[in-house]
Amino acid sequence: MFAYQLKKSTRRKTVAIKVHNQNVTVYAPHHVQKKVLDNWLLEKKSWVEAQLQKQLTLVDTKQYPLKDKKIWVFSEAINLTFQQGNTSTVERQQDGLLITVSARVKHQQQKYQLLLEAYLKEQLTAYIEMRLNDFCTLMQEALPNDLNIAVYKRKWGSCNSKRALTFNLLLIGAPHSIIDYVIVHELAHLRHLNHSKAFWQRVAQFCPDYKASTLWLKQYGMSLQWVF
Ligand SMILES: [Zn+2]
Repeated sequence: MFAYQLKKSTRRKTVAIKVHNQNVTVYAPHHVQKKVLDNWLLEKKSWVEAQLQKQLTLVDTKQYPLKDKKIWVFSEAINLTFQQGNTSTVERQQDGLLITVSARVKHQQQKYQLLLEAYLKEQLTAYIEMRLNDFCTLMQEALPNDLNIAVYKRKWGSCNSKRALTFNLLLIGAPHSIIDYVIVHELAHLRHLNHSKAFWQRVAQFCPDYKASTLWLKQYGMSLQWVF
Protein backbone atom coordinates (compact mmCIF):
# COMPACT_ATOMS: atom_id res chain seq x y z
CA MET A 1 0.00 0.00 0.00
CA PHE A 2 1.09 3.56 -0.61
CA ALA A 3 1.96 5.98 2.18
CA TYR A 4 -0.58 8.68 2.82
CA GLN A 5 -1.58 11.41 5.20
CA LEU A 6 -5.04 11.09 6.68
CA LYS A 7 -7.12 14.19 7.26
CA LYS A 8 -10.38 13.66 9.07
CA SER A 9 -13.13 16.19 9.22
CA THR A 10 -16.49 16.24 10.96
CA ARG A 11 -18.05 18.15 8.09
CA ARG A 12 -16.95 15.73 5.40
CA LYS A 13 -19.40 13.05 4.24
CA THR A 14 -17.35 11.21 1.66
CA VAL A 15 -13.82 9.95 1.28
CA ALA A 16 -11.56 11.73 -1.18
CA ILE A 17 -7.99 11.33 -2.22
CA LYS A 18 -5.49 13.82 -3.56
CA VAL A 19 -2.11 13.16 -5.10
CA HIS A 20 0.11 16.19 -5.31
CA ASN A 21 3.90 16.55 -5.48
CA GLN A 22 4.36 12.88 -4.71
CA ASN A 23 2.25 13.20 -1.55
CA VAL A 24 -0.98 11.33 -1.06
CA THR A 25 -3.61 12.92 1.18
CA VAL A 26 -6.79 11.11 2.13
CA TYR A 27 -9.74 13.17 3.33
CA ALA A 28 -12.31 11.23 5.29
CA PRO A 29 -15.37 11.79 7.48
CA HIS A 30 -14.52 11.78 11.15
CA HIS A 31 -16.47 8.62 11.94
CA VAL A 32 -15.14 6.45 9.11
CA GLN A 33 -14.09 2.95 10.17
CA LYS A 34 -10.52 1.96 9.52
CA LYS A 35 -11.56 -1.22 7.74
CA VAL A 36 -13.92 0.62 5.40
CA LEU A 37 -11.27 3.14 4.66
CA ASP A 38 -8.64 0.47 4.02
CA ASN A 39 -10.90 -1.34 1.60
CA TRP A 40 -11.65 1.86 -0.23
CA LEU A 41 -7.95 2.71 -0.46
CA LEU A 42 -7.20 -0.75 -1.78
CA GLU A 43 -9.63 -0.14 -4.60
CA LYS A 44 -7.89 3.15 -5.41
CA LYS A 45 -4.42 1.68 -5.21
CA SER A 46 -3.74 1.36 -8.91
CA TRP A 47 -5.12 4.83 -9.61
CA VAL A 48 -2.91 6.35 -6.91
CA GLU A 49 0.13 4.50 -8.20
CA ALA A 50 -0.58 5.68 -11.71
CA GLN A 51 -0.83 9.26 -10.46
CA LEU A 52 2.43 8.96 -8.53
CA GLN A 53 4.11 7.54 -11.60
CA LYS A 54 2.74 10.34 -13.75
CA GLN A 55 3.94 12.97 -11.33
CA LEU A 56 7.35 11.39 -11.33
CA THR A 57 7.76 12.87 -14.76
CA LEU A 58 7.04 16.24 -13.23
CA VAL A 59 9.90 16.22 -10.77
CA ASP A 60 10.08 19.41 -8.84
CA THR A 61 13.02 21.18 -10.35
CA LYS A 62 12.15 24.51 -8.77
CA GLN A 63 15.07 24.40 -6.44
CA TYR A 64 18.12 22.34 -6.42
CA PRO A 65 20.56 23.08 -3.69
CA LEU A 66 24.01 21.70 -3.94
CA LYS A 67 23.12 18.09 -3.58
CA ASP A 68 22.18 15.25 -5.84
CA LYS A 69 19.02 15.92 -7.81
CA LYS A 70 17.32 15.02 -11.02
CA ILE A 71 16.57 17.19 -13.97
CA TRP A 72 14.72 16.51 -17.19
CA VAL A 73 16.65 16.74 -20.42
CA PHE A 74 14.50 15.98 -23.46
CA SER A 75 12.13 14.25 -21.03
CA GLU A 76 14.82 11.89 -19.84
CA ALA A 77 15.57 11.94 -16.12
CA ILE A 78 19.19 12.94 -15.62
CA ASN A 79 20.94 12.68 -12.29
CA LEU A 80 22.84 15.73 -11.19
CA THR A 81 25.85 15.14 -9.03
CA PHE A 82 27.76 17.97 -7.49
CA GLN A 83 31.34 18.00 -6.35
CA GLN A 84 34.08 20.48 -5.57
CA GLY A 85 37.28 20.21 -7.52
CA ASN A 86 40.27 22.01 -9.00
CA THR A 87 38.40 23.38 -12.01
CA SER A 88 34.76 24.04 -12.93
CA THR A 89 33.34 21.58 -15.44
CA VAL A 90 30.22 19.75 -16.51
CA GLU A 91 30.72 16.16 -17.57
CA ARG A 92 28.16 13.85 -19.07
CA GLN A 93 28.49 10.49 -17.40
CA GLN A 94 26.63 7.30 -17.99
CA ASP A 95 24.01 7.96 -15.35
CA GLY A 96 23.86 11.73 -15.46
CA LEU A 97 25.76 14.95 -15.17
CA LEU A 98 28.70 15.56 -12.90
CA ILE A 99 28.97 19.23 -12.08
CA THR A 100 32.27 20.24 -10.59
CA VAL A 101 32.76 23.69 -9.14
CA SER A 102 36.26 24.87 -8.42
CA ALA A 103 36.88 25.12 -4.70
CA ARG A 104 38.31 28.59 -5.34
CA VAL A 105 34.95 29.93 -6.56
CA LYS A 106 33.34 32.12 -3.93
CA HIS A 107 29.67 31.76 -4.89
CA GLN A 108 29.40 28.01 -5.29
CA GLN A 109 25.64 27.80 -5.85
CA GLN A 110 25.67 30.55 -8.44
CA LYS A 111 28.52 28.95 -10.34
CA TYR A 112 26.81 25.58 -10.22
CA GLN A 113 23.68 27.07 -11.75
CA LEU A 114 25.63 28.98 -14.39
CA LEU A 115 27.46 25.82 -15.43
CA LEU A 116 24.24 23.85 -15.62
CA GLU A 117 22.46 26.59 -17.55
CA ALA A 118 25.31 26.86 -20.07
CA TYR A 119 25.30 23.10 -20.57
CA LEU A 120 21.53 22.93 -21.08
CA LYS A 121 21.65 25.89 -23.44
CA GLU A 122 24.25 24.14 -25.55
CA GLN A 123 22.14 20.98 -25.71
CA LEU A 124 18.96 22.80 -26.63
CA THR A 125 20.70 25.01 -29.20
CA ALA A 126 22.20 21.99 -30.94
CA TYR A 127 18.82 20.29 -31.15
CA ILE A 128 16.95 23.39 -32.32
CA GLU A 129 19.57 24.22 -34.96
CA MET A 130 19.26 20.74 -36.37
CA ARG A 131 15.45 20.81 -36.43
CA LEU A 132 15.32 24.36 -37.81
CA ASN A 133 17.22 23.06 -40.80
CA ASP A 134 14.82 20.14 -41.23
CA PHE A 135 11.68 22.20 -40.88
CA CYS A 136 12.88 25.11 -43.00
CA THR A 137 13.47 22.65 -45.83
CA LEU A 138 10.07 21.05 -45.32
CA MET A 139 8.27 24.36 -45.02
CA GLN A 140 10.27 25.91 -47.88
CA GLU A 141 11.26 28.71 -45.60
CA ALA A 142 14.59 30.54 -45.50
CA LEU A 143 16.52 30.02 -42.27
CA PRO A 144 15.79 32.63 -39.61
CA ASN A 145 18.30 35.46 -39.29
CA ASP A 146 18.98 34.88 -35.65
CA LEU A 147 18.46 32.21 -33.04
CA ASN A 148 18.41 32.94 -29.32
CA ILE A 149 17.74 30.94 -26.21
CA ALA A 150 16.38 32.74 -23.16
CA VAL A 151 14.53 31.96 -19.97
CA TYR A 152 10.97 33.17 -20.36
CA LYS A 153 8.31 33.01 -17.69
CA ARG A 154 5.25 33.00 -19.90
CA LYS A 155 6.11 31.95 -23.42
CA TRP A 156 7.87 29.09 -25.14
CA GLY A 157 9.17 30.99 -28.10
CA SER A 158 8.97 34.20 -30.02
CA CYS A 159 9.49 35.50 -33.52
CA ASN A 160 9.90 39.10 -34.64
CA SER A 161 9.75 40.98 -37.91
CA LYS A 162 13.54 40.78 -38.23
CA ARG A 163 13.17 37.02 -38.55
CA ALA A 164 14.88 36.45 -35.21
CA LEU A 165 13.61 33.46 -33.25
CA THR A 166 13.95 32.98 -29.52
CA PHE A 167 13.19 29.77 -27.66
CA ASN A 168 12.65 29.23 -23.97
CA LEU A 169 15.50 27.36 -22.33
CA LEU A 170 12.98 25.55 -20.15
CA LEU A 171 11.94 23.58 -23.23
CA ILE A 172 15.02 21.43 -22.63
CA GLY A 173 12.93 19.33 -20.24
CA ALA A 174 10.20 18.62 -22.79
CA PRO A 175 10.03 15.69 -25.20
CA HIS A 176 11.43 16.24 -28.70
CA SER A 177 7.95 16.24 -30.25
CA ILE A 178 6.92 19.20 -28.09
CA ILE A 179 10.04 21.17 -28.97
CA ASP A 180 9.37 20.40 -32.63
CA TYR A 181 5.90 21.87 -32.29
CA VAL A 182 7.30 25.10 -30.80
CA ILE A 183 9.82 25.27 -33.66
CA VAL A 184 7.08 24.86 -36.29
CA HIS A 185 4.95 27.42 -34.43
CA GLU A 186 7.71 30.04 -34.53
CA LEU A 187 8.65 29.24 -38.13
CA ALA A 188 5.01 29.67 -39.14
CA HIS A 189 5.19 33.15 -37.63
CA LEU A 190 7.77 34.07 -40.28
CA ARG A 191 4.85 34.26 -42.72
CA HIS A 192 2.06 35.16 -40.31
CA LEU A 193 3.04 37.41 -37.43
CA ASN A 194 -0.24 36.66 -35.70
CA HIS A 195 -2.37 33.74 -34.57
CA SER A 196 -4.81 33.93 -37.47
CA LYS A 197 -6.59 31.00 -39.04
CA ALA A 198 -4.02 30.96 -41.82
CA PHE A 199 -1.25 30.77 -39.22
CA TRP A 200 -2.77 27.73 -37.50
CA GLN A 201 -3.38 26.07 -40.84
CA ARG A 202 0.30 26.37 -41.61
CA VAL A 203 1.19 24.95 -38.18
CA ALA A 204 -1.22 22.05 -38.72
CA GLN A 205 0.26 21.30 -42.11
CA PHE A 206 3.69 20.57 -40.64
CA CYS A 207 2.69 19.53 -37.15
CA PRO A 208 -0.66 17.71 -37.51
CA ASP A 209 -1.02 16.91 -33.81
CA TYR A 210 -0.16 20.43 -32.67
CA LYS A 211 -3.26 20.50 -30.47
CA ALA A 212 -1.90 17.69 -28.31
CA SER A 213 1.35 19.62 -27.98
CA THR A 214 -0.37 22.83 -26.88
CA LEU A 215 -2.29 20.77 -24.32
CA TRP A 216 0.89 19.15 -23.11
CA LEU A 217 2.49 22.53 -22.61
CA LYS A 218 -0.56 23.78 -20.73
CA GLN A 219 -0.60 20.73 -18.53
CA TYR A 220 3.08 20.15 -17.89
CA GLY A 221 4.67 23.44 -18.83
CA MET A 222 4.86 24.65 -15.28
CA SER A 223 6.74 21.56 -14.23
CA LEU A 224 9.54 22.57 -16.59
CA GLN A 225 10.14 25.68 -14.53
CA TRP A 226 13.11 25.99 -12.33
CA VAL A 227 14.87 28.87 -10.69
CA PHE A 228 18.24 29.96 -11.89
ZN1 LIG B 1 2.68 32.33 -31.57
